[in-house]
Amino acid sequence: MYHPERIRHPDNCPSLVLNADYTPLSYYPLSLWPWQTAIKAVFLDRVDIVSSYDREVHSPSFNMRIPSVIALRQYVRPSEHPAFTRFNLFLRDRFTCQYCGTGSDLTFDHVVPRRAGGRTTWENVATACAPCNLRKGGRTPREAGMKLHEEPIRPTTWQLQDHGRAFPPNYLHDSWRDWLYWDVELLA
Ligand SMILES: [Zn+2]
Repeated sequence: MYHPERIRHPDNCPSLVLNADYTPLSYYPLSLWPWQTAIKAVFLDRVDIVSSYDREVHSPSFNMRIPSVIALRQYVRPSEHPAFTRFNLFLRDRFTCQYCGTGSDLTFDHVVPRRAGGRTTWENVATACAPCNLRKGGRTPREAGMKLHEEPIRPTTWQLQDHGRAFPPNYLHDSWRDWLYWDVELLA
């Protein structure tokens, strides 16, 4: 399965960042801060510590367990539309070729080819496997006799989050799980 999220290695003790309503600040990518940033935010009174790692940091003036989950004190309104990125586009299409349905060897297809004026936008780019991409070439789906499973759309943040439940990050600290999804089957 495709896991492009750069979840830091657990040894680095990243902190899961929750919004003021205790939902993750972002799912894609999962909102993680380096522990140094998290501790700085604690001292600036910008966040509350929800949970901590066993590991401590020491300085001449304080000892502190590294926060594993923190919550912002001020609510940040999530944007309605997610960024147009390769990962988000794959996520919109559930990591499947929109022509044949395979989940391997995935690339991107300009539905209306660039040479015909097709632009690189949510509405004109679809996930396609390399063989389908090659077969379609510089033609429209109609010209190539190929059919898209779904018309490409610009998704909302909520639609992507919904699709994302099937693609959990590949590393989840125990203390994060309470704050993520109810219905996800966590990978071992
Ligand atoms: Zn295909």
